[in-house]
Amino acid sequence: MNLEKSPLTIVLSSDLHGNLKHVESLVALTERVKADLLILAGDLQPRMSALGAWEGKLVFSDSPGTWEILTQRKWAEQELWPRLAKSYGTVVVGWGNHDLRANDEYHKKLLQTHPTIKNIHIVNSDEIVDIPLQQPVPFPTSGSPPSTNWIRVYGKSDIVAGHRPLKERERVDCNADLLCRRCYPQASTATTTSVRSFPSLRGAPHVCWTVATSGLVTDPITLKMVPGDVPMDPASTLESTLGTGFDRLESLRGTGAHLLSTPSDLQGTGKSRPIADGLNPNPIATLAIFHHPPYGTCLDRGGGSQAVRGFLTECATKQGLVDLAVSGHYHDAAKRTGKFAEVIQVKGTNVVWTSAGENGAVDVESAARDPPIVCFNTSNEYHLDSCKAIVIRLERRGDAARRVTANRVAL
Ligand SMILES: [Zn+2]
Ligand SMILES: [Zn+2]
Repeated sequence: MNLEKSPLTIVLSSDLHGNLKHVESLVALTERVKADLLILAGDLQPRMSALGAWEGKLVFSDSPGTWEILTQRKWAEQELWPRLAKSYGTVVVGWGNHDLRANDEYHKKLLQTHPTIKNIHIVNSDEIVDIPLQQPVPFPTSGSPPSTNWIRVYGKSDIVAGHRPLKERERVDCNADLLCRRCYPQASTATTTSVRSFPSLRGAPHVCWTVATSGLVTDPITLKMVPGDVPMDPASTLESTLGTGFDRLESLRGTGAHLLSTPSDLQGTGKSRPIADGLNPNPIATLAIFHHPPYGTCLDRGGGSQAVRGFLTECATKQGLVDLAVSGHYHDAAKRTGKFAEVIQVKGTNVVWTSAGENGAVDVESAARDPPIVCFNTSNEYHLDSCKAIVIRLERRGDAARRVTANRVAL
């Protein structure tokens, strides 16, 4: 097998935090390596103070309100999307904690209906999307070959960033936080407006970061502090939503998908749209995009997600259900650990996690049984001059065997 002829080539980065020089470096890299995919794992928007400087306004707080939501939209439309559209291949965007979720559907709709931008796909949280590639990838045809050139992506991007490496903080409560006058003493009409922008999260139970470590929590209705364990709504825990995502991935396996692209779409507009099930039963690869890395790995700093770890561990037991996972959020994880990947693989009766990426390179090969999942965190330090990226090559050999090679580079 000539590796050079068949791999899917991916450029991965994250945490650009508005650094347009980094965006341009990444786009240039996609051209150099002829990347089929550019994947961005969240935190693309500038920090609020930088957003204020961009718009020529003073901004005093990081609490997202209407101004922040609208300005993030404007910034992405004017600065981010036009640059990313120049990428060589398909661009897949997941969100991070700095990308306000009130903008999710807005950008998605904008890009789906945009007259000239055709290669950028946003994967909102809790969503499974099948995405066409811009360029054909000549994959081997043994076993069950991919019927056409498309990938399946599961996105889960709204894990709350906080200061405690505990699963309590993984609840979907970032917007409920805005109701807490202790966490946000400046809570006013403005923040109430922004809470209304996130209707799916209204009424979510709240953990007050200020006092959570003392065992007190805020009752979301009365805003009074109450003692005891964090009152988690079982249905809104990250474990629960990732469990649902896992079940959906499994049920879609070997079938058509819930969002498919017709062959004419693939050759024509390049955009995804829902059609009847039954086409494209076999994606080239299935990717999971997280912003928060799995807990207790070289990808986090002790503050990763236990639920993400559980999800990937479970996926590893289901041959090829997920091929690659990506994350971000910890900008200096690679600097601290010297590694940038976790290889998750069934060995005997256990699922074993192995940190990888010494000397900036990963090479993982598996036989047909128990293909590994490789999970990455680019650790892009957006405030530095050079942008970090990982160039990943995935070779698929028949049904389950995989080879993944990756290099972490500075641009
Ligand atoms: Zn970040
Ligand atoms: Zn982040």
